[in-house]
Amino acid sequence: MAAGSKRTNVLKYSLGMCLFSALTQCAPAASHADAPTPKTTPPPTVVATAKPPAVDAAALHVAKAEQLAGSDLTQPLVLCKTVEEAKDVILAKAKGDGKIVVTPTKLFDNLFFVGNQFVGVFVLKTSAGLVLFDSLTSTDDIRTVLEPGLKQLGLAPKDIRQVMVTHGHFDHFGGAAYLQKTYGAHILLSAADWKFIEQQKQAPGVGPAEIPKHDLEVTDGQVLTVGDTSVTLYLTPGHTPGTVSAIIPALDRGKPYKLALFGSVLFPATREPSPTNGGLELYQRSIEHFDQVSQAAHVDGILNTHTFIDGTAERLAEARTRTPGQPNPFLIGTANAHRYHEILGECVAAALARLEPAPKQASN
Ligand SMILES: [Zn+2]
Repeated sequence: MAAGSKRTNVLKYSLGMCLFSALTQCAPAASHADAPTPKTTPPPTVVATAKPPAVDAAALHVAKAEQLAGSDLTQPLVLCKTVEEAKDVILAKAKGDGKIVVTPTKLFDNLFFVGNQFVGVFVLKTSAGLVLFDSLTSTDDIRTVLEPGLKQLGLAPKDIRQVMVTHGHFDHFGGAAYLQKTYGAHILLSAADWKFIEQQKQAPGVGPAEIPKHDLEVTDGQVLTVGDTSVTLYLTPGHTPGTVSAIIPALDRGKPYKLALFGSVLFPATREPSPTNGGLELYQRSIEHFDQVSQAAHVDGILNTHTFIDGTAERLAEARTRTPGQPNPFLIGTANAHRYHEILGECVAAALARLEPAPKQASN
C-alpha cells in the first residue's frame, strides 16, 4: 500500500469518525459544577437527538470500506456507490467489456478461467471430469468462447460433469441448458434460484431454450464431491433469492490451497426480500456467514466470476505471465480474503444506512 494513499485513507476515516463523534458525542457542554447557581430555573436546553442523519452513517461505512481497501483492494468499492450508481457502472461494463474475450488462463494446476471481461467461468479439473462455476450468457457464448477456450487450455468440453450456477441471472446460467443437453452435465442451483429462473422464461433476452431443466438443488454447507475433489457450497441469498457461494480447492505446483468464491455482486435496492432478490438485510447476513466459513477454512484467496469486482482480472493477467520463480498471484492469504469480505460488509451497511427514514422535521 502506498504511504500517501494510506495517509489519505486514514485521514478520510478520521474525518468520518470525527463526523460521527460530532453528531453523537459533542452535545452542548453540560453546565459546570462551579458555575453560579441561577436564581430562577432556566428552561431545559433542547439537545439534538444523538442519532446521526442516515446519509452520514452511510458515509462512515464508506470511509471504513475505503480504509480497508487501501490501494490493493479498491475494485469492490464500486458497490459502495448508491445502488443505482453501481448498477449503471456494472451495466455499462456488461455492454462494453462483455464483448472482449479474455485469453483462456490457467490459474492453478487444476483451475482455469474462460470468459470475457464482464463475466466468466472457472473450470475445476477433477479425476472424474470438469466442474464449471457459471456458464456465461448464452448458447452462443458457449460455442464461441467456452468450447474453444477449453480446447486451447487442453481440456475437453465432453468432460464437463457439473455446472454450479452461482445465481439465477442470465449472465450466469445462460449457457447451462446447452451444456445439459449437449454434454449431459448436471446443473446445480439453489432451490430458490431454480424457482427464480423458471419464472424468467419470458424475460427479455432469455429464450426458453436457455432455461435448463430442473436438476440438482444446492443446500447450505453441502459438499459436492466429483472424483478426487470436494467443493463446499453455501447459500448466500441477497443478490438473488438463492445465490450460492463456494470454497474451492486448488493445487499450485502440487500444493493444496482453498479459494473463496462469493456468488453475489450488486446489492438489491430494498431491505426486504422480493421475488427477484433476497434483500439487503439477507445480503449482509450472507456476507458475514460466508466470511466466517472462509476464515474457518483458512482460505488462501478469492474469486469472482465478475472478475472486475475483486481483482481477479488483474490476477489473471499476472497468472498468464507468471514465471517459475514467481508466487501465484491468487494466493493473497486468509487475512486479505477476510478484508475483501469486510469491504463488502461495509458497503452493504452503507446501502442499508441510506435506506434509513429521513429524520423528522421539527414542527412549529
Ligand atoms: Zn447477477
